[in-house]
Amino acid sequence: MKQKYLLSTYKRQEVCFERGDNATLWDGDGKEYIDFAAGVAVCSVGHGNYRLARAISDQVAKIIHVSNLYRIEPQEECARRIVELSEYDMRCFFGNSGTEVNEGAIKIARKYGEVDGKVKRYKIITLKNSFHGRTITALKATGQVAKHDYFGPYPDGFVYAASVEEIESLIDEYTVAVMIELVQGEGGVQPLNLVAVQRLALSLKSKDILLIVDEVQTGVYRCGSFLASHIYGITPDVITLAKGLGGGVPIGVVMSGIKDIFSYGDHGSTFGGNYLSSASANEVLDILEEYSQRGELIDHQNYFETSLERFASAYPSIFTERVGIGMMQGLRVIDGNTLSKIINIAVETGVLVIKSGKNTLRFVPPLTISKSEIDEGFRRLNLVMLQLTE
Ligand SMILES: *Cc1c(COP(=O)(O)O)cnc(C)c1O
Repeated sequence: MKQKYLLSTYKRQEVCFERGDNATLWDGDGKEYIDFAAGVAVCSVGHGNYRLARAISDQVAKIIHVSNLYRIEPQEECARRIVELSEYDMRCFFGNSGTEVNEGAIKIARKYGEVDGKVKRYKIITLKNSFHGRTITALKATGQVAKHDYFGPYPDGFVYAASVEEIESLIDEYTVAVMIELVQGEGGVQPLNLVAVQRLALSLKSKDILLIVDEVQTGVYRCGSFLASHIYGITPDVITLAKGLGGGVPIGVVMSGIKDIFSYGDHGSTFGGNYLSSASANEVLDILEEYSQRGELIDHQNYFETSLERFASAYPSIFTERVGIGMMQGLRVIDGNTLSKIINIAVETGVLVIKSGKNTLRFVPPLTISKSEIDEGFRRLNLVMLQLTE
């Protein structure tokens, strides 16, 4: 009833949160929840983060927004930080969401394929089970045909490979790019095979085909390094980031080593990289860089992984496999029905976990989650499993 003014795109839980502290949330009745979901890998520095709140409020008291027709100093600073942390020789364009920066990546590829006097290359190969966003073109790039119902006609030129190994065989004279997630976030927290990715990257380079890595979910330290591309030891041509970058404030970035690809007017965004979102991202990057340098990121990540492994191994008839990298983890559940039950009982028991793909229980907690919050979250999940088997 209360949701009667909202289009019904989400099957929502009834709970409504009022405040938070790091990986702990409280609802309107004062009930406490451990947050293993972080707004789907968004709240990278936790809830109620004082430093982030302070940086945002200092900024909004001065300027929230001017258009990109003027220089925006925090945006320039943010681009410098991202490029330096990436260790790639690239330039940035800021948008507001994952899907939007993936559109930017696709535009970069399509323009790259346009060379005077040659056939226009426009095809982009993506993977089955991938997820690249909800706008029409990013949706078409998403290799899950069930999601394509109703919304066509779509732009041409997307080809889906069943595996990294199959990509090579789908390349033709029109292929301009390959777009992949290194760990498929919505497709079951599925890491791609490292050797196959490295081999692909080399082969694409030799064929002048762009490698676009969608790090919207894996990036900004989610997998332990600033980028999952670092873990895979590759140098992509285009990278997109969004979810964890602003700590909850909408911001996305598409960065590319083809630094002169766009001319004035080729692309733009009203809000992208404004004072508010750039200031947030700059503070998030400060917090996480320090956290990483102190060794806490890896320490807490290992602690989380060990706790998850211990939890999963206690229920071998329900969890068949642990998947994922760093603070992007999943447990394969025997069936989708059991998975839904676990998620629902978990909310009642005071711990937030989410679904990925058909049968994966996903864990993407704030990167700053404390060890006591991890302990408490798994204590509650054990209570969930008791209720499940009752
Ligand atoms: C979430 C996600 C997107 C879409 O991001 P939005 O901000 O929801 O548009 C795109 N790619 C990946 C890999 C994602 O995880």
